[in-house]
Amino acid sequence: MRGVNGRPTAVHNVETLAHIGLIARFGGDWFASLGSPAAPGTSLVSVGGAVHSAGVIEIATGTPITEIIKRCNGFSSEVAAFLTGGYGGAWVAATALNSSSWTPESIAEAGGVIGAGVLWALDARNCPIRELERVATWMAGESAGQCGPCRFGLPAIASDLDLLSRHSAQVGDFHRINGRLPLVTQRGGCKHPDGVARFVSTGLHVFHEEVAHHLHGHCSAQSNATSLPVPAGRKSPVSRTGKDFK
Ligand code: SF4
Repeated sequence: MRGVNGRPTAVHNVETLAHIGLIARFGGDWFASLGSPAAPGTSLVSVGGAVHSAGVIEIATGTPITEIIKRCNGFSSEVAAFLTGGYGGAWVAATALNSSSWTPESIAEAGGVIGAGVLWALDARNCPIRELERVATWMAGESAGQCGPCRFGLPAIASDLDLLSRHSAQVGDFHRINGRLPLVTQRGGCKHPDGVARFVSTGLHVFHEEVAHHLHGHCSAQSNATSLPVPAGRKSPVSRTGKDFK
């Protein structure tokens, strides 16, 4: 095994370290006998949201998404869409993964990403715009604010989403969000802003009908419940810098 540029390289991903331990014990052939030939082995998937048994499960790579949902005892309610990859990941429509399997290529074909190994089924009764706003606001606060996209761009996008979720946004505000998203992409010292921009842009695309409802002052959510976990008690970054970003 070689590290980056052939140099010794520390690997911090616990899942990878666990795989290395098993490969050392049972051998590479044993590991490669599992999963899809292109990306053999097993994968940990964090399944959450509208499933009966949420949790982290280990699957062979290439396992159909339908099988993963079955392992979690099926859906607990109607699903509006899936968040793939986590909060730096991508939303896909509820039916987009029907014939997908857990490989990077198959998930990408459906418009998603494996990312942090998250598969979240959003309950169709929840307001997706509120979910976008909650997560974007939290993610905007999860940086040291040292680069422009994190200091100005993400708080501004979170502020725009706040307007939209409260039915206070006009069409021009919505165009402003779409204009800001590319401005934070590939302009930070790391990929944090890119991930948030992808989370928001794919969400606005997948939930475009609900965006339109909100721009007309309505929300079709049947519940006030929120679903995606966000730590409580975090200070919103919006009032700090959001208004300054043009
Ligand atoms: S872009 Fe990355 S390095 Fe720069 S402030 Fe944001 S999180 Fe920190």
